[in-house]
Formats: sequence, C-alpha cells, structure tokens
Amino acid sequence: MNIDGKPEFVSKSSVELYRASASDLDVARAAWVSQDANSSVKEAEPGRVEGLVRFLWRNRHTSPFEHGQFTFIVRTPLFVAREFMRHRTFSFNEISGRYTVMPEVFYIPGANRPLVQHGKIGAYRFGTGDDKQVALVRDTITQVTLTAHSAYQDLLKAGIAREVARDVLPVNVMTTFWATANPRNLMHFLSLRSAEDALYEIRDVAEQMEAHFSRTMPITHRVWRGSPSASDADNESQG
Ligand SMILES: Cc1cc2nc3c(=O)[nH]c(=O)nc-3n(C[C@H](O)[C@H](O)[C@H](O)COP(=O)(O)OP(=O)(O)OC[C@H]3O[C@@H](n4cnc5c(N)ncnc54)[C@H](O)[C@@H]3O)c2cc1C
Repeated sequence: MNIDGKPEFVSKSSVELYRASASDLDVARAAWVSQDANSSVKEAEPGRVEGLVRFLWRNRHTSPFEHGQFTFIVRTPLFVAREFMRHRTFSFNEISGRYTVMPEVFYIPGANRPLVQHGKIGAYRFGTGDDKQVALVRDTITQVTLTAHSAYQDLLKAGIAREVARDVLPVNVMTTFWATANPRNLMHFLSLRSAEDALYEIRDVAEQMEAHFSRTMPITHRVWRGSPSASDADNESQG
C-alpha cells in the first residue's frame, strides 16, 4: 500500500456477506431432531416451517437458531468497530495497523447525519444542525483528518514503525474486519444496533447486515421482526 496518496472521504460503511451457511429449514430441522433422529433430511412446506419458527421464537426455544453461520466483511470507521466488537458472541479478524499501512480512507458525516443533541443521557433526541454547524463539522473533520494523515505519512517516511506512526490517526479512519456469528446472536446484535437509540453509523452497518439476513432467512427474519406471515399478509391484502 502506498504512503503518498491523498486521503479519501466516505460517508457510509459497507457490509459484504462473505458467506452464509444458514436457512429457515435448518432451524426447523434442528428442532425436529427431538422427535425424529432423521430430521436432517426432512422436507416441509414453507407454511409448516414458518409455524414452527413462530412457535420456537414465541416460547424462547432459541437453540435451534444457533445452527448456522453468517460471515460479514465490514468496512467502517474505527469508532464503529469499537462498538461492534463489544458483541462477544461474534468472532473477529481485523486489518492490523502493525503489519500494514492503514487505509487512507476516512469517514465524514453525510448530509443526513444528525448533528445536535437535546435531552438527557439515555433519552437524547437528535436534530439537524444549522448551515453554520454543518460547515463547522465538515471543515473541522476535513482539516483534522488531513493534518493527521500528513503526520502519519511523515512518520512512515522517516522510518518510524507502523505500529507507532498510527498513533496519530483519528477515530474516523476506516478499518476492515470479518465478523462471524450464528443467527441467534446476529438477531441479538441487530435488535440492539438497528434500534432508534443506537449510534447513527452503527445503524447503517446493522441495516446492511439485516438486508443480508432477511434474504438468507426470510421466515426467521419476519418472525424476529414481529411481521405477519407471508400468507397472512396476502390474505389481508386480498380482504
Ligand atoms: C444504545 C447502547 C448504548 C451503550 N452504551 C454503552 C456505554 O456507555 N458504555 C459501555 O461500556 N457500553 C455501552 N454499550 C454496550 C453494551 O453494554 C453491551 O456491551 C453491548 O451492547 C453488547 O451487548 P451484549 O453483552 O448483550 O452482547 P454480546 O456480548 O454479543 O452477548 C450476547 C449475550 O450473551 C450473554 N453474555 C455474553 N457475555 C456474557 C457475560 N460475560 N456474562 C453474562 N452473559 C453474557 C448475554 O446474555 C448477552 O446479552 C451500549 C450499547 C448500546 C446498544
């Protein structure tokens, strides 16, 4: 990686689904083994699977949701990664600032990112800033980032070890990590991190993860979200 480039600014994280080994049918098959030793090859109508998934979730019989795996590749600022990695049930591997030059990509809030807060801890309400505040945030973050990036390059060029030079980088530097979890722990993460009171930037990550989850396990996703079954929704729209 070169150390002479200009820093790039981004206002979004990205989440790639590296691999999913999980399905709604797996949840049902794991539950069925209590009555049928050959449940691993059992097929069923989607309606039966959905009924069972709803029963399991309602009764907090959650272990059948643990037989699967999602691996995501997440590109996000350091301050988001720090919150993400509080989730101890995930497995992680992250780019190393000791072994490689950190990516010259930095986060800057986009136009829709709320900038001001009101109220008390635990009950903050966020709002848009006025034009002056928007300009202040953009100018300050740009300036501080350029200064830090330039200092990082100077230290590297002077032969300072990467693990020391990185000390000048701000928390908006983008990092990349792999995160792996089973469906149950993924749902727990999504409940906390796609909630309205979660950090704006981690909600962005959680929403992208949820989109992958809903495509891979549409029934489980619907049940976890408390949405009606596909057939109920059809009936309602017809009625
Ligand atoms: C809106 C919000 C604000 C937050 N603010 C702060 C803050 O100001 N400061 C701060 O330090 N953190 C903060 N956190 C982090 C929070 O306290 C949790 O560490 C984080 O959300 C991970 O949740 P978890 O432990 O449930 O998840 P995981 O670590 O993924 O664990 C999943 C579940 O496994 C079980 N589990 C895992 N480890 C243990 C254990 N050691 N003992 C018992 N059960 C365990 C629990 O049932 C847990 O819910 C905040 C989180 C949110 C969502």
